[in-house]
Amino acid sequence: MSYFLNEDQTMMRDVARRFAQNELLPLANKIDADEAAPASLTQRCVELGFLGLWIPEEYGGVGADLTTTCLVLEELAKASPSFAGLLSVEMILCPAVAHLLGTEEQRQRLLPASARGERIMAFSQTEPSGAINTQAHQTKLTADGNGYRLNGAKLFCTQGQATTYIVMCRTQRDGQNGYGVVIVDREAKGFSVDKYEDKLGWRGTNTGPISFNDVRIEAGDVLGDLLTGNAAIAPVNQASFMGHAATSLGCAQGMLEQTVDYVKQRTLYGEPMAKLSPITDRLAIIVSKLEACRALLYTSTKLYDEDKMDQPYGSMCKSFICETAYECCHQLLQMWGGSGMMNSTGVNRYFRDARTKLVAEGSTEIHNAAISAVVLGLPTQLGSLMG
Ligand SMILES: Cc1cc2nc3c(=O)[nH]c(=O)nc-3n(C[C@H](O)[C@H](O)[C@H](O)COP(=O)(O)OP(=O)(O)OC[C@H]3O[C@@H](n4cnc5c(N)ncnc54)[C@H](O)[C@@H]3O)c2cc1C
Repeated sequence: MSYFLNEDQTMMRDVARRFAQNELLPLANKIDADEAAPASLTQRCVELGFLGLWIPEEYGGVGADLTTTCLVLEELAKASPSFAGLLSVEMILCPAVAHLLGTEEQRQRLLPASARGERIMAFSQTEPSGAINTQAHQTKLTADGNGYRLNGAKLFCTQGQATTYIVMCRTQRDGQNGYGVVIVDREAKGFSVDKYEDKLGWRGTNTGPISFNDVRIEAGDVLGDLLTGNAAIAPVNQASFMGHAATSLGCAQGMLEQTVDYVKQRTLYGEPMAKLSPITDRLAIIVSKLEACRALLYTSTKLYDEDKMDQPYGSMCKSFICETAYECCHQLLQMWGGSGMMNSTGVNRYFRDARTKLVAEGSTEIHNAAISAVVLGLPTQLGSLMG
């Protein structure tokens, strides 16, 4: 699909490809084992412009489009899907919410520091009652003098080492209930990161519960309208879903490339394994499926970039591409036989990362519910998922 890309997009994709293959891939197994990425890697991503790629130039970023951003994420994910997943939150979701809802002061406070990698941000919505079931959420903002107090608890917050948390919460104004968005500083009194979970995949970052005990929120820390902030972020959520789909696509592509090398050099019954027809048949189907995913993804990002989205393309990409990538990784892992089950081979992390992506950033079922509600013209309670 290179012929669809302009010169800037191709150049940035190639920069990301070189960085991913030369600097990220050699560290990918260690990132998976340690459940942490070295700070030096994030610093390299700042130097290469990845962190501020989608942030407009007037706020210290590169001002690239979503297509370029997804191309970079796909390349990074070929080497380390979990590192790419972590960057996706930093490159798209958090800065996009801050830019869409923020006042000039809030944008200046959050975006240039984010592009420089000095302000790592996290996005927190999920609660014990479910990610999307916001009507049952308990985290609540209440008025206190000229500001507010925040109380409650969240689950599965990715980027445990963030300095700034963008938090969804129940709100009230003049007797009316809403669901808004606030900025919480990691150092705020009453805020705590409770623990990090040991998880199946996506191990390049910490994920865990966070809680708020009477945390003071200044009026200037509310992002967007107090009652409708969360609903307003639907369009940027759709962009974020495409970023996550790009990481799943890169995940399967990276595993495919390593598996092709493996079946070419592995000998079975005195012949290269690549000559077995079940292998060639499966490889052909996998390559075709991934190319179909690529077509869906970059058609969707182009529509987003041109402001022509008339369907929830982000949810379509998240659901279809993540499921397809997982199926492909499952098939590819089988080709490695027993070696694939051994962590030392370094290939089963792709399978685990692809599996984790079926839940993280909204499960497949949640995205399918959003897509079908649009198709059927039905009302939905899925709020900020809908574009
Ligand atoms: C590695 C990882 C990182 C994460 N990072 C973050 C983060 O940074 N911030 C954050 O806020 N959240 C984060 N999450 C949470 C993630 O978004 C949720 O786990 C996911 O959306 C599913 O929600 P749940 O866990 O509450 O499942 P539940 O809501 O308990 O769902 C259970 C099952 O019911 C299905 N289901 C739920 N609702 C519907 C529906 N309406 N229609 C059909 N089926 C439905 C689900 O698909 C699932 O199969 C992360 C999760 C993981 C695994």
